[in-house]
Amino acid sequence: MSHIIGRKCVSFCDTGCVKVCPVDCINGPIKIDGLGSEVEELKNNGEFYNLDKPQMYINPDVCIDCGACITECPVDAIFSNEREAIREGDEEYVHKNYEFYGMKFN
Ligand code: SF4
Repeated sequence: MSHIIGRKCVSFCDTGCVKVCPVDCINGPIKIDGLGSEVEELKNNGEFYNLDKPQMYINPDVCIDCGACITECPVDAIFSNEREAIREGDEEYVHKNYEFYGMKFN
C-alpha cells in the first residue's frame, strides 16, 4: 500500500508535499529522483506549461504511509491508499504513480 497522487495535481505540481515527506519519496514531473527540484525552473522558463499533464508522483516502494503529505497539498490531490484513489475515480493515477518508478500496480 502507498499514498497516491491523483489527477488534481496535474498541471499544478505544488511541491509542499516533497518538503514534508520524511523518506523523500515524492518526485516528478520529470526526474525520478529529483524531489521536484525541476518544477520551479520549468515554471520560471515557461516550459512547465508545455509538458503533457505534469504532476508529482509518490514512490510506492518507499512511502511509509505516514500521511504528512496529505495536509500539505493545497488542492487535495493525495489519496491515503490505492483503494481510496480507485474509489474516487483516479485508478489511472494509481497506475501512473507506479509506472513513473518502473513498477506495475496489480
Ligand atoms: Fe511521504 Fe508520508 Fe506522503 Fe508517503 S505518506 S509520500 S512517506 S509524506
